[in-house]
Amino acid sequence: MFLSGKTAIVTGSTSGIGLAYARAFAAEGASVVINGFGDADRIEAIRAELAATSGAAALYDPADMTQPDQIAALVDRAARETGSVDIAVNNAGIQHVAAIEDFPDDKMEAIVRINLLSAWYVAKAVVPHMKRQGWGRLITTASAHSLVASPNKSAYVMAKHGIAGLTKTLALETATHGITVNCISPGYVWTPLVEAQIPDTMKARGLTRDQVMNDVLLAAQPTKEFVTPEQVAALALFLCRDEAKAITGANLSVDGGWTAA
Ligand code: NAD
Repeated sequence: MFLSGKTAIVTGSTSGIGLAYARAFAAEGASVVINGFGDADRIEAIRAELAATSGAAALYDPADMTQPDQIAALVDRAARETGSVDIAVNNAGIQHVAAIEDFPDDKMEAIVRINLLSAWYVAKAVVPHMKRQGWGRLITTASAHSLVASPNKSAYVMAKHGIAGLTKTLALETATHGITVNCISPGYVWTPLVEAQIPDTMKARGLTRDQVMNDVLLAAQPTKEFVTPEQVAALALFLCRDEAKAITGANLSVDGGWTAA
């Protein structure tokens, strides 16, 4: 339990990759602050499971990642109710697939706010706590799309490339304070976010569901397998170890070889 006494905030952790991060941190004894949307009973069951696993605090905060004041309030609450803010994972994300001429402006703006700007606001709120403590781990779930593009994902690719630049800048600003800042870039992970993009991809590219599954999603990874949320979370856990303190400003792929190809 190498994270006993530490607190980890994970945005967008009511499902998918974020939930796997929260479970991994709790399994190492961290107090965990979960966030995101979903059925209230299900979220309470997740919160209770995390508290039982860690033997420490587990909080749910419903902050909307499009709202800077709610992000700041989440971080304040985490510090007040658990005593510190040691690890923060910017993970909340949404996706929309459409050709540029059909892409609604409000969807583009929501993607940029949730996938990119929220990471900036989280960093602004957590870095002062981490500097005071002389220790911190700031991680963002970027994507293979922070390194390469795919058609019809202009807003997502734009936001994810932005995360890579933010990560490098913040790593330089915090390097002498015991803080590391990295992004993790998964390939396709079977989550509600990926499932939801299948109909739009079928429409935008004129493909069948099977073609999207096999020729777009699985074909992206040379391993021909989806990445699992647990494989992504395992890297985040490693980044929190003292052995990883020289890893900062990096964009680390967990993508079955996608970006190597
Ligand atoms: P998911 O849909 O399972 O989880 C997204 C989470 O974000 C949910 O908890 C949701 O409630 C939350 N969320 C959405 N809008 C929010 C808002 N306004 N405020 C607060 N929370 C909000 O999806 P996932 O695939 O687990 O995605 C998690 C992250 O991983 C995203 O940033 C995504 O871009 C990234 N990612 C996913 C894949 C993949 O293949 N699934 C690949 C690379 C990167």
